[in-house]
Amino acid sequence: MKKFKCSQCDYGSTTNRSLNAHINSVHLGIKTYNCEQCDYATNYKPNFKHHVNTVHLGMKKYKCGQCDYATSYKNNLYVHVNTVHLGIKIFKCSQCDYGTNYKQNLELHVNRIHLGIKNINVISVIIEQVIRGNLIII
Ligand SMILES: [Zn+2]
Ligand SMILES: [Zn+2]
Ligand SMILES: [Zn+2]
Ligand SMILES: [Zn+2]
Repeated sequence: MKKFKCSQCDYGSTTNRSLNAHINSVHLGIKTYNCEQCDYATNYKPNFKHHVNTVHLGMKKYKCGQCDYATSYKNNLYVHVNTVHLGIKIFKCSQCDYGTNYKQNLELHVNRIHLGIKNINVISVIIEQVIRGNLIII
């Protein structure tokens, strides 16, 4: 039974949503992409593809080669591999064994333990150099 019928043509549908999509695309000239698996709808095809890929197909661009972990963000994969599989802390102090996954913590560490400088401008320049020299990129 097609409960929802188009008033402008023979089209009939079982759901109100597909009737709306029909009216939009055929009679109003608005192209709408409706997700069949949830309420998501968009007028932009790339957005629709992205939605289906990420939300329903679980397609994440960056996959870990050593476990099921996957993410849409390259940086997250770096962090994952470094911390989970390599046991590496991403931000390492060049002057001692201290390591952390948070840049801010390293800044605090270098600031407190190794620099002890009161001039904030000098500190930030030096910290930037320390951090950059130790950032591990696979
Ligand atoms: Zn129609
Ligand atoms: Zn969806
Ligand atoms: Zn992994
Ligand atoms: Zn240190």
